[in-house]
Amino acid sequence: MAGQFKAAINQLNKVSQIMGLECDELEILRKPDRIIEVSLPVLMDNGRMKVFTGFRVQYNNTRGPYKGGIRFHPKVNLDEVTTLAFWMTIKCAVADIPYGGGKGGIAVDAKTLSQGELERLTRAYARGFANFIGPKIDIPAPDVGTTPQIMAWLMDEYSHIKGENTPAVVTGKPIEVGGSLGRDTATGLGGFYVFEEVLNKLKMAKSKAGIAVQGFGNVGMNFAMIAYRAGYKVAAVSDSRGGIYNEKGLSMEEILAHKKSTGSVVDFKNSKNITNEKLLELPVEVLVPSALENVINEKNAGRIKAKMILELANGPTTEEAEVKLSKKAVLIVPDVLANSGGVIASYFEWVQNSRQYYWEQARMDDRLKDKVTSAFKKVWQTMEARGNNQMRDAAYIVAVERLIGSLRIRGI
Ligand code: NAD
Repeated sequence: MAGQFKAAINQLNKVSQIMGLECDELEILRKPDRIIEVSLPVLMDNGRMKVFTGFRVQYNNTRGPYKGGIRFHPKVNLDEVTTLAFWMTIKCAVADIPYGGGKGGIAVDAKTLSQGELERLTRAYARGFANFIGPKIDIPAPDVGTTPQIMAWLMDEYSHIKGENTPAVVTGKPIEVGGSLGRDTATGLGGFYVFEEVLNKLKMAKSKAGIAVQGFGNVGMNFAMIAYRAGYKVAAVSDSRGGIYNEKGLSMEEILAHKKSTGSVVDFKNSKNITNEKLLELPVEVLVPSALENVINEKNAGRIKAKMILELANGPTTEEAEVKLSKKAVLIVPDVLANSGGVIASYFEWVQNSRQYYWEQARMDDRLKDKVTSAFKKVWQTMEARGNNQMRDAAYIVAVERLIGSLRIRGI
């Protein structure tokens, strides 16, 4: 067992000790059900063939079909995909939706591919995994570097192979091909609902909650925009090229326009350019990591000034950093709860595809709020019952109880 996955399983072991639980079912949760690796030959624009490696890890399907995104990023590797698939298993159980966990990926910098190359790579992925995915088997979705357009190509290729239109094979699709209203903003919106619940519990005033958001993609940008429009001060944002900061707050609408025209948030007027590392150490109340894993670690944990970390990225805080930050009474709202709005909305999209009956935006947002808020309440109560500020432990207790319960009822 390698680095990141080992750390993820340490969290499972920690929680099983807290619960006084040692059983055979737990051993099932320590390993993925299936790891699939496929070679994907793609014809490049220069006429040469390039062979990519595609991964899909199907972690556990006790509570329903495997569910999880596909990541296109140069650093994708099997350890990372396995870890993300494990976290999806926990997340779907925390959210109490009828899914297990899975994840996929390709080590590629999608920005270096032409549209044609990206489409051929995506279709190759669909062909490579067509016998392993399906609406009742394993349902991919977008993640870092993948978009609604990529989901449409996946759905199209899969539908051709199976000989029937199958929108429910992936979620996060464009509206025109069976996507759901509200799916694109759901991870940010779900995170915002959780954020307001936490502020309420902490009795923290809105005016005091200055926010820094790392990552200005689907999740970070939507969260920042929703918080800004709701009247919160978003003082810093960043993307892969760097960040910007203004202690008095930034206009998200203007930044979005600036990013659209220049390709990045950096060099925005009336703000100071900062590095991604510096963003995490700013004097703000709330940090919202929304990009990649392990950015809050042993090296910088001591310099973090925020009182709350809302983990919209998956796995942004390492084990060592969490120990240090908890001692400083920093509240870490864990990824498996904070960003669960995405998979909850994916679940609603899949339900609509299966029924071929589509909801209006308000119904989608209301149901998202209900589901995320119930998950939050259950986790918060579990944490309060233990008398500490360890929200991740509480979320894992909720998930492990549900997973072990389902495993026992089904039998091995
Ligand atoms: P995205 O590709 O849309 O955006 C990622 C953003 O992070 C971009 O702005 C990119 O420039 C930035 N970035 C990349 N490398 C960076 C670096 N080294 N430092 C700082 N910023 C960097 O991806 P996304 O879908 O917004 O996903 C972001 C995170 O949220 C990931 O951890 C993902 O697993 C998680 N997540 C996504 C969803 C979803 O619905 N998309 C759901 C749950 C969790």
